[in-house]
Amino acid sequence: MATNEDLFKKIISHSKEYGYVFPSSEIYDGLSAVYDYGPFGVELKNNIKEFWWKSMVQYHENIVGLDSAIFMHPTVWKASGHVDAFSDPMIDNKDSKKRYRADVLVEDNVQKIEDKIQKEVEKARQRFGETFDEQMYRTTNPRVMENQAKIDTIKKRFYASLEKNDLADVKALIEELGIVCPVSGTKNWTDVRQFNLMFSTQMGSVNEDANEIFLRPETAQGIFVNFLNVQKSARMKIPFGIAQIGKAFRNEIVARQFLFRMREFEQMEMQFFVKPGEELEWFSYWKQERMKWHLSLGIPAEKYRFHDHDKLAHYANAATDIEFEFPIGFKEIEGIHSRTDFDLSAHQKFSGRKIQYFDQEKNEGFVPYVVETSIGLDRTFLAVLSNAYREEKLEDGSERVVLSLPAILAPIKVAILPLIKKDGLPEKAREIMDVLKYRYRCFYEEKDTIGRRYRRMDALGTPYGITIDHQTLQDNTVTIRDRDTMLQERIPVDGISEILGKKIAPIS
Ligand code: ATP
Repeated sequence: MATNEDLFKKIISHSKEYGYVFPSSEIYDGLSAVYDYGPFGVELKNNIKEFWWKSMVQYHENIVGLDSAIFMHPTVWKASGHVDAFSDPMIDNKDSKKRYRADVLVEDNVQKIEDKIQKEVEKARQRFGETFDEQMYRTTNPRVMENQAKIDTIKKRFYASLEKNDLADVKALIEELGIVCPVSGTKNWTDVRQFNLMFSTQMGSVNEDANEIFLRPETAQGIFVNFLNVQKSARMKIPFGIAQIGKAFRNEIVARQFLFRMREFEQMEMQFFVKPGEELEWFSYWKQERMKWHLSLGIPAEKYRFHDHDKLAHYANAATDIEFEFPIGFKEIEGIHSRTDFDLSAHQKFSGRKIQYFDQEKNEGFVPYVVETSIGLDRTFLAVLSNAYREEKLEDGSERVVLSLPAILAPIKVAILPLIKKDGLPEKAREIMDVLKYRYRCFYEEKDTIGRRYRRMDALGTPYGITIDHQTLQDNTVTIRDRDTMLQERIPVDGISEILGKKIAPIS
């Protein structure tokens, strides 16, 4: 898949210049894979959270919210399997001293072969035109079949080695595939080792009875340990869900992809509790629902795809990723997993408490099964931002950078712009803003020419601009300018709020 490093760099620098995202502790040269959200970034992030929360909690009677603490009892992470198994296989190149995830090296290699197949398929599609039968071609063309067989062999061996924790074989596979370090270009690899991704710290005074505790690597466990509290206090009946938005921390091995892979990030997760046996039906329900949500952000469907897992985690009986085409290629933005009763049963065992749902009709208790939807807030932010970023050449030959953010998510909804800084126009503009600001996030600006102010608002992603001119003083009308079309229309001051309300309504 084509990557676009150049575009990615532009988006990163645009985010900084326009107050969306800053490197953490920048005056000390930053902290690797940690970022701060600036004045407009925090607004966009909050709007995404609200959009998700509403679609989950407000629009579903059977989903309720939770905000559990980041610190949890250390046994939680024993029960969940994170202490023993939340690790990635890592490998170092001895020449460049760069560290990689062994699984990513192998997967990238597989991707290259897949790209070759795809190229071949596209060529054939052009050659055969409308009569082209892709399935038939894939199963009969010798070159494609040979490459597909290669992929299958690599995957089979790789997943089997990981399963057995046979890290020597993972290294052997990397060597046999001839994978080189992208920096040094050599195959001088260290052995593969497992690296646990959880951050730990001490709770209590350091010497006496200090306990090692972890910064949560996912928000889900806070939901599982509160299952009974929530179910009982909110009187929930199965099937029902618990949603949560919060920080998660992972000491990622390779973290150099801006908001895509951070060491401190935010997740928006929902665990949906169902009767055993019904989980696969709910899994496919949530798969479709979540894709609809992504499309409701106004991002074209071809930017998304499902990636069903070949290798299931030990706790899952079905899993898929929704992938988004970031400037760095198609990558996971959300995971949907059918987690069986793994988590609740494990907590039942480790805590010694009964964690069950009582079925009134059958007069018996059972441990519910769980379907999880887990989306990265920061990755969604990056998806929205990279989809919105555009460089346009205008008819008059000039250029503009515009962030075509969906109005519902835009940090600032409307710019209030007096045409000039005198003749009573600023006063009139302030008067209008004083009414609008209680309903919409407004931005007042009177400095610079109106053209420059429009450009700045375009680059910031503000969908509408209200311009107050001399005519406003005569007939109480203003112009409203659309960021994307740049068209302006004249509307009465009294109608601004309602007109904006209609324009900003969520995409359905
Ligand atoms: P990956 O394979 O990319 O490491 P994952 O499969 O480990 O991701 P999950 O554990 O399923 O991810 O987490 C759910 C979601 O949380 C992901 O789809 C992603 O959007 C987000 N996420 C996970 N790790 C990070 C990270 N380091 N930085 C930003 N977002 C993340």
